Parts: sequence; structure tokens; C-alpha cells
Amino acid sequence: MPTSDDAIHIDRLIRTKRRTLALQIGADGRLIVRAPQRMPLRDIERHVQARADWIRKHQERFRARPAPEHHYRPGERFLYLGAEYPLALVENARPALALVDGEFRLSRAALPRARQVFTAWYRARAREVFTQRAVEHARQVGVSFENLRVSSARTRWGSCSNQRTLSFTWRLVMAPPEAIDYVVIHELAHLQVRGHSRDFWALVAGWMPAWQPAAAWLKENGYKLSL
Ligand SMILES: [Zn+2]
Repeated sequence: MPTSDDAIHIDRLIRTKRRTLALQIGADGRLIVRAPQRMPLRDIERHVQARADWIRKHQERFRARPAPEHHYRPGERFLYLGAEYPLALVENARPALALVDGEFRLSRAALPRARQVFTAWYRARAREVFTQRAVEHARQVGVSFENLRVSSARTRWGSCSNQRTLSFTWRLVMAPPEAIDYVVIHELAHLQVRGHSRDFWALVAGWMPAWQPAAAWLKENGYKLSL
């Protein structure tokens, strides 16, 4: 059974004199939790996870920003590994799309199917990059996985199955390397700890001390990772 990646991240925890827990979604979609002084963190997390559907619904409303739409015109910029490169149309190029000298060169003949050509290009790069990062991190932290899949999920950056198959969406290859590393490490950590317990986050932090800015980048910019 595949386990989905549905961590609810508490952006801000405020200890108050109140006796019950209160959840608030800030204007930017951040989750603010007000909790009694002595409520243990694991209880807070349990309450938060229990209200995951409510939280997600309200966060999605705040984050329902339209993805930048591509028209595949010369000069339009496309993301790869966190950097933007302009599109140039060239005559009869082979392959139909290549990233050369800081620009995406698309064969004019491929223009009618530009989206498919870009998708195929990103998928191929995604497989290379994610495999390389997953193999390297797995070796460093001493875990092993069976398989690596490239998906086309829109908002689920990664997941892992009980058969130790890691999945990552090709869209993630548009993100900066730190964001990719965070998602890879997050899924590798699930090979050891299911769910998003305190132990899980401690493991992630141990393997990648700077995971928080990377996760925040994805939360903030994830909507841009589209074609
Ligand atoms: Zn997770």
C-alpha cells in the first residue's frame, strides 16, 4: 500500500495561557497553532494531524494561485534546478529540445507539441537528477531503496511505498537542488519512520540540518513548478 506524503507542517507554535488548542491559517496560508503552555508537542501534533483535512482545505484556498502559463514564445523563461532559462526557437534542431549555453533551444518544427517535448525533457532530467541524489543520500545515511519512479503528480513532490519504491514528480526537477535534496531525504527518512512523528522530523533534521528553508521554498514556490 503506498503511503502518501501528507505532512501538516506547523509554521508557528505559540504557547498561551489558553486551555485548548486553536488553529489559525494566516493570510499567506501559514498554519499558526496556539497551545496551552504545558501541552506536550506530540499531543499538539496529534490534534493538528486529526484536523489535517480542515487545514489543507483552508490552506489551498490561500494558495490557489494560478500557475504561470507558458505560451512557448521566444524569450519566455523556464525553470530548471531553480534557475530560469529563456526559450529560443531554432530551425530543425535535433534533439527537439536542448538546454545549451544558458538557453532552451526548441526546434521550430516541434513548436506545435512544445508542451510534450518539454515534459519529456524534464522527465528525462528528473530521472537522472533524482536517481543521482537518492543514491548519494541513501549511501550517506545508510538506507536502501528498491526502485525509483518518476510521476507527474502536481502537488505531491514525493512519496514512498512499502515496497521501498521512491516516487518523485518530474516537476520537482525545476526546483533548486536544496529543495530536491529535502524531498529525497524526506522520502528516505520514511523508509525508516512511517508518518510524521517527532522521531521522523528528528531524523530528517539529522540528515539535513537546513531542511526548513528548503521545505519553505517548496511551499512558497511550488505552484511555479509547472508547464
Ligand atoms: Zn512525509
